[in-house]
Amino acid sequence: MSAITVRVPAKVNLQLAVGPLREDGYHDLVNVFHAVSLFDEVTAAEPLDADPSAAPLRVRVEGDLTGEVPVSDDNLAVRAARALADRAGRSYRADLLIRKSIPVAGGMAGGSADAAAALVACNDLWGLGLPVEDLMEIAADIGSDVPFALLGDTAVGTGRGERLAPLETAGVFHWVFALADGGLSTPRVYGECDRLREEAGVAAPTPAVSEALLAALREGDARALGQALSNDLQPAALALRPSLADTLAAGRTHGALGAIVSGSGPTCAFLAESAEHAHELAALLKDVDGCRSVVTAHGPVPGATVAG
Ligand code: ATP
Repeated sequence: MSAITVRVPAKVNLQLAVGPLREDGYHDLVNVFHAVSLFDEVTAAEPLDADPSAAPLRVRVEGDLTGEVPVSDDNLAVRAARALADRAGRSYRADLLIRKSIPVAGGMAGGSADAAAALVACNDLWGLGLPVEDLMEIAADIGSDVPFALLGDTAVGTGRGERLAPLETAGVFHWVFALADGGLSTPRVYGECDRLREEAGVAAPTPAVSEALLAALREGDARALGQALSNDLQPAALALRPSLADTLAAGRTHGALGAIVSGSGPTCAFLAESAEHAHELAALLKDVDGCRSVVTAHGPVPGATVAG
């Protein structure tokens, strides 16, 4: 096969409980991930030119607002492909093309999604046949959100978020995502979360999964899920980007069952009652100040999957 295309979903965090800062610089987390139907596509192809002096792994990025995505070795898809080649113990070549629809630095783990997609695509292109367990291990070394992008659906991550267990869900949940202008740096949002806690003199609680959230997922109860959504990073994201409070309030006013900052933001996620309600909500939200665009999506959806 000379080219493999993999489709990979964005995630929204249904619960993000942030514990104390650990000595290794990470936080203990309880992170309930939910994969939604907003996809990037990564194609891995055999390079057409046979120039042995060319970089073994090259990357191009297509889509709106991809300016901040590096096209160097720092691209997470390139890092993933390199880690896979290292694991296989041989040198390999590939041209990677990323078609981005997941907002960049939007709190929806787009970079991690591309890394997961590159692992699946290059595993196929290079005929390595590594099992998903091996890909999960490589993924965890690249970043905390990468294993989930391989797995998809709904799962709870513990530790720094990388120890994953799938969660039982029923039915389909309908979402609206309000994308903001510009991104928010994830480390900066975690830093602000620590700072706000220190300022308020509150110790970070030990993170625990919400039983109400698990029950809502099991029962496919959108109303209960909307009530149970929580994100400990939200106060920090709002402190850094105060206009997000207006976006969330607008969603609630227009009947969203739940309104939350997605991960480290600035994307805001709204849970709707139905696909129709999601479209109505999206139409109402697109005129809110600070909202660059609005998309609808459903979840859960599978993780990185070879397309076609
Ligand atoms: P998360 O939700 O995991 O915290 P995020 O959605 O906020 O992440 P990403 O879109 O994953 O943020 O990207 C964060 C940064 O990573 C970008 O600003 C960019 O510099 C870098 N990056 C590296 N590779 C990629 C990639 N393939 N796609 C997007 N960003 C990438």
